[in-house]
Amino acid sequence: MNKNTPLTIGVIGSGVIGTLTAYTLKKKNYSVSLFDENLPGTQTSMGNAGTFAHYACIPINSEDILKKLPFLLFSDSSPLSIQWKNLFSIYPWLIKFLQNCSKEKVNNIITKLSIILQKASIANNNLFNEINFGSLINNNETLYLYETEKDFLRDKKNNDLRKSKNIDLTEISTREINEIEPNLNKNFYRGTLFKGSKFTTNPLKFVNKIYEEFLKNNGKFFNKKIIKIKNEENEIIIQDNLNDSYTFDKLIICTGSFSNKLTKMLDETFPMISERGYHLMYNNCKNIISRPISVVNQGIYYIPMEEGLRAAGTVEIGMNDKSINTKRTNWMHKNTISNFNINNDPNKVWLGYRPTLPDSLPVIGKSKNNANIIYNFGHQHLGLTLATISAEIILNIIEDKKNRDFEAFSPNRFN
Ligand SMILES: Cc1cc2nc3c(=O)[nH]c(=O)nc-3n(C[C@H](O)[C@H](O)[C@H](O)COP(=O)(O)OP(=O)(O)OC[C@H]3O[C@@H](n4cnc5c(N)ncnc54)[C@H](O)[C@@H]3O)c2cc1C
Repeated sequence: MNKNTPLTIGVIGSGVIGTLTAYTLKKKNYSVSLFDENLPGTQTSMGNAGTFAHYACIPINSEDILKKLPFLLFSDSSPLSIQWKNLFSIYPWLIKFLQNCSKEKVNNIITKLSIILQKASIANNNLFNEINFGSLINNNETLYLYETEKDFLRDKKNNDLRKSKNIDLTEISTREINEIEPNLNKNFYRGTLFKGSKFTTNPLKFVNKIYEEFLKNNGKFFNKKIIKIKNEENEIIIQDNLNDSYTFDKLIICTGSFSNKLTKMLDETFPMISERGYHLMYNNCKNIISRPISVVNQGIYYIPMEEGLRAAGTVEIGMNDKSINTKRTNWMHKNTISNFNINNDPNKVWLGYRPTLPDSLPVIGKSKNNANIIYNFGHQHLGLTLATISAEIILNIIEDKKNRDFEAFSPNRFN
């Protein structure tokens, strides 16, 4: 390759992870082509809770998970459930997940997550200064709510851990909660405000804004499904569903929960499942709250989105099929009408797939079988929060800059 010709880079997947990766590489003048069978940001990245959750360093892995498992999996009022029909496919992940629930492993995950989250906070603030997102970014801080003293004390250990990782939080009283959020339907025992946290009022428009900047910088987008990757040494050839081929120096795979389909072509499979999550939209409840609110024991986030109130959350460990578990969504609706004075059904029910590895850390690094193919997926509950920093890590890998902080995300950790 001529020294003056920019590297050609293909990025597969235009969710929040792929779009920010393509944008970050294009800014550095590489020749970047982005591929997606759907339009940018329209899959899992459009339906999330919109929070830049730099405080969210506590994974679902926990020391006492085995004790809690029967309630978590079998109770109708649990924020966690399992897609029993897919147990056979989930089983290997489940075993590895439990292996990552020892005290030592959980502490290690919390440390790794808090390091990347701190860097993500800086990277996101730089992005918000670089691109004019206007009212798409809102500075009202996230509020966690506890219904009872018991719920509050149960989460105290997590709040202490957060504080030990320099997460700035303030505990507030029932009166203070009611002052800042007067439309709640009941008195909550206590709240926690996460200082400096932000959210987007429209995750789809957020991705589209970045996509527009990518196009303005002469990035190319192909609305194509990639069905083949040829693993050559010095160049990578990919093929789409219409049999067109494209050749690149480097390829980045950012296909979220669907990534194993592509990595299998490179003889690599990751122990990844989907933490299926839902959202319900209440369009006539615009501005009922002013900030993201999570009712902690219910595992539901409420967000004042542009279109109305979004209730997002719950975890259903499973696969990527489209079946909606109405038990889960009815439970979310029941909680919503009890938390707020709402008397109508949701206008929309949506399902998304959080790509999750057993140690709750993403996969960011070179394929073991081809150093020119780089993975960037598996961001579980934190894809929106971690997209900018993950893109910067990819840029560093391409430019051969090493950073030991991020070795924990290596694809080789499952070998
Ligand atoms: C209910 C819920 C709430 C959440 N709340 C938050 C939150 O508040 N904050 C936060 O940080 N995160 C949150 N998340 C997590 C976050 O949404 C995800 O981590 C993130 O969207 C994953 O982004 P992605 O780009 O990896 O995947 P996706 O958005 O799924 O994008 C992957 C893309 O790859 C494309 N693709 C797949 N295969 C191919 C192929 N063969 N060829 C071409 N294209 C292909 C798909 O079409 C898709 O567009 C939440 C998730 C859920 C479900």
